[in-house]
Amino acid sequence: MTQLLNRLNVKLRIAVVQLNPQIGHVIETTARVNALVSRIEKYKPDIVVFPEFALSGYSFHSRLQIEPYLSPARQGPAWDLCRKISTQLSCVTVMGYPEKCDELTGQKMYNSAIVVNSNGELIFNYRKSFLYHTDEEWGCCENPAGFQTFELPFANIARDADGKMHDISIKSAVGICMDLSPYRFEAPFQDFEFSSFHAEKGTELILFPMAWLNSISVTRDTENPSQRRKDITRSLNALQLPLSGSQGTYHWDVDLQDGTRFAENPEHSTQEKPDNHNETNGFSRPAEPDLSNLNYWILRFMPFLAYADRQNWFIERLLAPLLTKLRGLRSSYMGGVVQKPWLFENRNAIAVMCNRCGVEEGSTVFAGSSSILKFNGQHGDAEKELDSSNRSVEVIGSLSKGYEGVLIRDVEFQVDR
Ligand code: GLN
Repeated sequence: MTQLLNRLNVKLRIAVVQLNPQIGHVIETTARVNALVSRIEKYKPDIVVFPEFALSGYSFHSRLQIEPYLSPARQGPAWDLCRKISTQLSCVTVMGYPEKCDELTGQKMYNSAIVVNSNGELIFNYRKSFLYHTDEEWGCCENPAGFQTFELPFANIARDADGKMHDISIKSAVGICMDLSPYRFEAPFQDFEFSSFHAEKGTELILFPMAWLNSISVTRDTENPSQRRKDITRSLNALQLPLSGSQGTYHWDVDLQDGTRFAENPEHSTQEKPDNHNETNGFSRPAEPDLSNLNYWILRFMPFLAYADRQNWFIERLLAPLLTKLRGLRSSYMGGVVQKPWLFENRNAIAVMCNRCGVEEGSTVFAGSSSILKFNGQHGDAEKELDSSNRSVEVIGSLSKGYEGVLIRDVEFQVDR
């Protein structure tokens, strides 16, 4: 017997707060958040999302260094601030923080994010599953539970075909930055671990606190780090920004369905000309999003994207033997399942990418460009490009790469119940 599912139309107002938190400046960062939140309040968002390690800063190199910033899920500055925001704005608040947890085996540390509901209660505490090497430096543990989903209840947000409103729980997930990358940068790129998991689970809302690096950053793989550091310093000087990047100059972008609009974008630097988004010569145009970075995030959601070639793998029966071989490990490959070419077809999902901006240690430049994406589950027979030009992904809004700021949008999507 097949049960008839109801298609419901869901509307959510989402606010994304992009910050430049510097290590040792929790009080200053909290003060800027409070100032921003008092300006966000009148828009009445349903959800407010903050970056990975939103108050503490990111680049810790030892356990000793991170120790003063660690707290259990229900304690510490992130918890206090999220509860305050959630109750003041009557919203869900999501924020990344360094977690310590006393377990039978001793004290463990995690790179975590709390999800706090409008009553100020902890709905979910997610721990990063795939670690970046900076996380490993201070002894961070991987999430023992791996990728996870949870139910996020909302009152009166879903409309049925007769116009009747319903309370529903949205199938939600948190991902933290590196969770979107191949495991340890070693797993095959086409495994798309995070997005395959959530395509298989039918996750509808993905909340992504991040501290994602701009490609100019000095990393383990940088060939000439001292030259790269000079390039970073030169770029920031040219932009008349301090070595830690911009703080307190905000990029506002509010565009709501009721016609409310508010935009305030810091001046584009006059010294520069658009350079076809080429970042190799330095960090430039901080008032614009980093489109190559945004396209990379979109690519990593491959199972959610329309892709015409899936039909061929399906017809030529390439997929079935592969999935049989992988049986037990996973049931989809690049978005395809044995039963149909594209598992996500006709579904919807929203991804909220909340990245930080700014610079740490003169060498780690974060990419900003926080964005809200909608995957619409359409055009599966036509699309060939796995980037923002693919019509199955709608970029609902993006912030700049270099400035702190707030993005607020109404998102509308469909769920089956
Ligand atoms: N893949 C991410 C990057 O390269 C990882 C950073 C992080 O986990 N904070 O920026």
